[in-house]
Amino acid sequence: MSLNFGRPLLSIPGPSIIPDRVLNAMHRPSPNIYEGPLVDMVDTLFPDLRAVAKTKHQVAIYIANGHGAWEAALKNTLNAGDKILVLGTGKFAITWAEMAESHGINTQVIDFGMQEDADPTILADALKADTKDEIKAVLTVQADTASSVINDIPALRKTINETSHNALFMVDCIASLGCDEFHMDDWGVDVMMTGCQKGLMTPAGISFVYFNDKASQARKRAQPGEYWDWVLRTQTDLFYRQFDGTAPTHHIYGLREALDMLVHEEGIEAAWARHKTIANAVWATIECWGKGTEISHNIKDKAKRSTAVSTLKTGDSEAPKIRKWCESNAGLTLGIPLGFEGKDADCHLRIGHMGHLNPPMIMGTLGTMETAMKALDIPHGSGALSAASQILANHK
Ligand SMILES: *Cc1c(COP(=O)(O)O)cnc(C)c1O
Repeated sequence: MSLNFGRPLLSIPGPSIIPDRVLNAMHRPSPNIYEGPLVDMVDTLFPDLRAVAKTKHQVAIYIANGHGAWEAALKNTLNAGDKILVLGTGKFAITWAEMAESHGINTQVIDFGMQEDADPTILADALKADTKDEIKAVLTVQADTASSVINDIPALRKTINETSHNALFMVDCIASLGCDEFHMDDWGVDVMMTGCQKGLMTPAGISFVYFNDKASQARKRAQPGEYWDWVLRTQTDLFYRQFDGTAPTHHIYGLREALDMLVHEEGIEAAWARHKTIANAVWATIECWGKGTEISHNIKDKAKRSTAVSTLKTGDSEAPKIRKWCESNAGLTLGIPLGFEGKDADCHLRIGHMGHLNPPMIMGTLGTMETAMKALDIPHGSGALSAASQILANHK
């Protein structure tokens, strides 16, 4: 018989859990969009959006999901026929590359596979081979939500500098912003984009493209068209121009509340530290489950794991059974595998641990997964929840 009664729990790598406070902030009548509190409030979003990314540069808001932010970043910096280099470490940068191809951009992909981060020496070789400086931009993700690897963004920037290459450095932080440590300016990222529905805890529907002065230079030779143009959105005194039409009124009320929680109450550094501890608890759990069994973390080197999501391997066909049991018997939704093919798609799943998350939530997820394994007679090592609770207990 099912135990599925009570509040359902979503543990997927986006959308993440929406805090009740964010939902409540959105629950209001349509506001005046010409003047007054909404218009004043929007001005307050920008300093906080900058604080989350550790940047003093500009940020444009789009009524779009992450794919829209990808398109905006491409349209503002590149033209059809331009060449770009894409570092794939799972699925997402590669999908972004496919989008670039659809705009006629000439795309060179280096695919590091499902279990590795981008290797700076291979990037260096590719840039050195580009003797005519044809590569206009290097694209990658910070955290790849399919493999759960994290790329070493400062090391990749250093490589671009050391080869004296002039390419723009564009980084997708859709899964990682507000979760994994990130410093746009100190790390030399020229264009960064993110969505609101992962670390920023707001229902999917708005996204952000950040750009520095070098990216603004690139914008001058691109033809983004009106809707995607980040200049029109960021250099205007007209409120409606910031959104090229009606503002996403309720989303921005939700975002205001989420930024209050993240920037003004918890603090971004504390949020990074919380994500690290929670991720460590997840990793210790997976390690215990894996003792003498087939369960393991997809990314072997801890230093190369995102703190926002974990991809784990199980025995053949066990992962879908665990997901199904958790969903129907316990009200827990886990992430499907992405980017794995054939038999591999049947032995992976993902745990999202991003955003609005505390010990009862993560222990609930891990404890429920262990319950599923017991119910399904899936072999798993012991001591996992004890190891996880010790890590949470040690959080300073
Ligand atoms: C979720 C995600 C995307 C896609 O975002 P959508 O809002 O679904 O378009 C892109 N990149 C990464 C790294 C993601 O995690």
